[in-house]
Amino acid sequence: MGAFQYFKHNTSKAADLLGLSEGERVTMLTPDRVLKADLTIKLDEGGSATFPAYRVQFNNARGPYKGGIRFHTSADEDEVSALAAMMAIKCAVVDIPFGGGKGGVNVDTKKLSLNEIHEVARAYVRAFAENLGPDIDVPAPDMYTNPDIMGVMLDEYEKLTGQKAPAMITGKPLDKGGIVGRDTATADGAIAVLVSLLNDRHVSIEKLSAAVQGAGNAGARAATLLSDMGMTIVALSDSKGTLRGDAVDVAGVLAAKEQGRSVVDALACAGGNAEALPPQAVITTSADVLVPAALEDQIHAANAAEVKAGIVLEIANGPTTPEADDLLASRGVVVVPDVLANAGGVTVSYFEWLQNRSGETWTRDQVSDRLEEAMQNAYRDVADFALDRGVTLREAAYALALSRILDKGA
Ligand code: NAD
Repeated sequence: MGAFQYFKHNTSKAADLLGLSEGERVTMLTPDRVLKADLTIKLDEGGSATFPAYRVQFNNARGPYKGGIRFHTSADEDEVSALAAMMAIKCAVVDIPFGGGKGGVNVDTKKLSLNEIHEVARAYVRAFAENLGPDIDVPAPDMYTNPDIMGVMLDEYEKLTGQKAPAMITGKPLDKGGIVGRDTATADGAIAVLVSLLNDRHVSIEKLSAAVQGAGNAGARAATLLSDMGMTIVALSDSKGTLRGDAVDVAGVLAAKEQGRSVVDALACAGGNAEALPPQAVITTSADVLVPAALEDQIHAANAAEVKAGIVLEIANGPTTPEADDLLASRGVVVVPDVLANAGGVTVSYFEWLQNRSGETWTRDQVSDRLEEAMQNAYRDVADFALDRGVTLREAAYALALSRILDKGA
């Protein structure tokens, strides 16, 4: 099943739950606009190259379209549409006044110089400028794009329009109107949701163990926070393998990674019974909480029965296939869905947009307090809905989001 099929599957389930009409279902499954362009840039060595580019504006019932731009060879209409749809759901789950959008350029940035990458960024803005803007559609970074590229896109937009418009894009460098704490927002938000869930169940955090898949931006921060809160980390993985042990010293492992090594090269940091295992082993490790924070489709029909954790915190987008989701639900495993768990990133992007529009500069404490509050509220809304209707947190999150987008009052 492709990304858009997952979205359709979850949306259709939620539509059944809410008893939506055929027209409402079509609205929720159809992008408002699919914009396409071919971006041609001059190459440093002479000649030119052309790359297909997309901007999908899914739904703006709640506010401007919002979503990142990825530079990756997987970017096509289906992928970008699915990601745009997920953004509409995510923004509604955390109740921020944005709709769903996403962009992509089908390009392998590893084959381009920095100057050429900047030319792709400028060409993207020139192609879609009419459809972008602080009140229309607000992009952000995604795979293989970053604050530097957002700064270049802003510069091109301001040149074209002849006006200062920092709120047209988020994830900017701090000196161009970016916000402190955006880099850690996704993991910070996810952990705030997990803490709310554990408090609800009167579970003491220090008694729990966790296994974390992925030691990149989101996974490394999540593992650090969990460990700082007193949880025992019993597995941490990256693309090379899984480091398993009685008590993984997260800071030690991340220090090894900073030197270009893999988590499995840090056996000395895993405590007793240290083992280096294949990448997939993290999923079936004995732990109370499993945190997939790497790739999609990691928990699937073939390994879902072996998941030992009672709670799965989906920081990655789409880490659980629909078949696995049903299997986990039937076993009573609580899955905190991606559209709730990883919505901290777009929430802080919203704070950046607010900051730019008001001319303020928020402090780190302001950002982290407001993020925590937003994630706790989102969790409360989703958990109450799930309890009330007797459905999973994913079904509740989608249904709540659809009812907010369609303004139906669930
Ligand atoms: P990243 O590129 O910084 O890190 C990805 C990590 O996954 C790396 O440690 C890599 O080694 C690891 N990995 C790759 N293949 C693996 C495998 N087979 N097994 C185990 N680990 C593997 O990416 P990130 O920003 O941390 O994002 C991770 C996930 O979180 C993605 O699904 C992303 O879409 C999602 N997400 C991130 C953000 C954000 O703000 N960073 C926001 C929302 C969602």
